Amino acid sequence: MKRRLLLLLVFALLLLTGGVALTLWRSYGDPRSTPFLQWARGNNATREALIVTEREACPGAPFILPADGFIGLLYGDPRGPYSASSPHQGIDIFSNDAPGRVPVYAAYDGYVTRESNWKSSLIIRVPDDPLQPGREIWLYYTHMADQDGNDFIVDALPAGTHEQFVQQGTLLGYTGDYNGNSPRTIWVHLHFSIVLGNGRGGYLNELEFANTIDPSPYLMRPVSYACAPRPTTCTPDPGCPAGAGS
Ligand SMILES: [Zn+2]
Repeated sequence: MKRRLLLLLVFALLLLTGGVALTLWRSYGDPRSTPFLQWARGNNATREALIVTEREACPGAPFILPADGFIGLLYGDPRGPYSASSPHQGIDIFSNDAPGRVPVYAAYDGYVTRESNWKSSLIIRVPDDPLQPGREIWLYYTHMADQDGNDFIVDALPAGTHEQFVQQGTLLGYTGDYNGNSPRTIWVHLHFSIVLGNGRGGYLNELEFANTIDPSPYLMRPVSYACAPRPTTCTPDPGCPAGAGS
């Protein structure tokens, strides 16, 4: 009986490690994961090489990049804590620096709201979508605090801020590694996403992928997972060629 239990345990262990190995093998074999693995395992020079430093908008782009860094987790990304059924709602721009150091800027002119219970987040209302005039969109920023929830958002935008106008390029704060009450530690980064309005002057739930849109045409950079492994540099055609990403 004991022996049977032992065999069962060994079998379960093999199954488990086999599963992990398979996942790893898949990531290694997938060119979309190469930069991500390089960032995870690389030294300072490797990381610096992956960083985009660009304070001007790409040619033809309405938005500037909200922070310099490595655009590692893409829009629609199923990796990390996400999945194919619940993909990433925005882009994660990782900092090769300590929390509270890398500046975060307004990607476009708009009106900042910071809900009174938001420690590390704010959202900017853009009344007129530059790519779809007449539509209201919202730019959601989060993780701008340290692990204990001490925020790195500028003093001019305290919790409870409502409809404070900011111009494109205004300093909003600095990247951080706050992850709410989750015990999972995260790399220092900014999460940035474009959230649709609810048609009543508010925004839809920013955590639902279906309520968000692809930032690629706003940045004129291919930042959608469907386009990977295209580099996230400026391009006149940030869309994905047919069949890409499959
Ligand atoms: Zn994110």
